[in-house]
Amino acid sequence: MKKLGILFTILMLMAPSMVSAKTEATTLAELRQELKNLQNQKSSNEKQKQLTKAEKNAKNVAIANAYKEIETSESKIEEAKNSIKASEQKISEYEAKTKEMLEFYQMMMGDNSYLEFITDSSSMTEMIMRIDAVEEIVNYNQDTLKKLEVLIDENEQKQVELKKYEQELNNNITSYQKKIQELDSSLMEMEDIAMDINEEIKIVQTNIKTYENMGCGENEKFDVCAKYSYNSTWLKPVTKGRINSLFGYRNVSGQSSNHSGIDIGVSEGTPVYSATNGTVVYIIRKSSCGGNQIYIQSDVNGTTYTMQYAHLLKIEVSLGQTVKNTDVIAYSGGGSTATRNGGYDRCTTGAHLHYGVSKSKWTTWKNYTANLINPPGFPGKGGWFYERTQWFR
Ligand SMILES: [Zn+2]
Repeated sequence: MKKLGILFTILMLMAPSMVSAKTEATTLAELRQELKNLQNQKSSNEKQKQLTKAEKNAKNVAIANAYKEIETSESKIEEAKNSIKASEQKISEYEAKTKEMLEFYQMMMGDNSYLEFITDSSSMTEMIMRIDAVEEIVNYNQDTLKKLEVLIDENEQKQVELKKYEQELNNNITSYQKKIQELDSSLMEMEDIAMDINEEIKIVQTNIKTYENMGCGENEKFDVCAKYSYNSTWLKPVTKGRINSLFGYRNVSGQSSNHSGIDIGVSEGTPVYSATNGTVVYIIRKSSCGGNQIYIQSDVNGTTYTMQYAHLLKIEVSLGQTVKNTDVIAYSGGGSTATRNGGYDRCTTGAHLHYGVSKSKWTTWKNYTANLINPPGFPGKGGWFYERTQWFR
């Protein structure tokens, strides 16, 4: 039980936070700076990665040792408790015997039966035997009482020691748990960085080209030079579906995480529409987490939004293409593309469309995730909808 508790604590701490600094590149010059930062970060990550390979192994060993130490401490406490229990058992046995003896002794002394017992003897031999028996009883009694006294003293001492010992071991356990947490989270960081940063760099590089093509000057605000299709309404991306998973905190098979959009359960191959009139600003193909993905940027009543459609089976648009909210941009996947079905996408368990909405311009990944919102207008978890009703006026 204790181990489950530790694991749960670790998982809670590992839940990635979606709230990050809202550094937003608003011009090409700023976007180029972002690219430089990412590239520097990448090379320092790579150096760190090489340096820390040995460190990583050492940390894994340290984690294993910490778990062992916790187990040892726990079994030591158990041992000490058992030894006290055994002493207590002996004490109660002696106590029972002594009580029996004392009762017998008192009975004899009380009504003179002690003397009667001796004088009632029919022969000298029997009398001597009876005297011996009485002496034996008295001696035994004294002996037992002494032993009992020693045992009780010892046990009290043991209990005082156990309390100290238990406190010490529990402190040990706590510090080892802390250590495991620290080691684990630093290992996690090392695992994730490299893959993410390559995609992040690609996004910024693509966006620099896009804004250049749109004729943006180096220090011209994107708000001025980059305009997107205007929308007064916003439709659902599929004609019907069931809400499998909500936006925000969730717990999937024991792993807690922040969910960056909503999951709409639809059968594989379902047409996916663009929720808005907009421009295709990014396409990811066969990502190991998210599969085929489309990012579309649009203006809704004067606010810029970037929308993500993920786990797609087939993409029907190309980068830079302008789309209408009646256009089929893709067909849904998520079933056959899942790794467990022999596909490439480890972040899907069954057929569904992942739909994410960020209230931001498409500049950097950091900016996209920092401005994610709960896609509005959908039913709650498990709820169905049967039309692409507009929710936004
Ligand atoms: Zn999802």
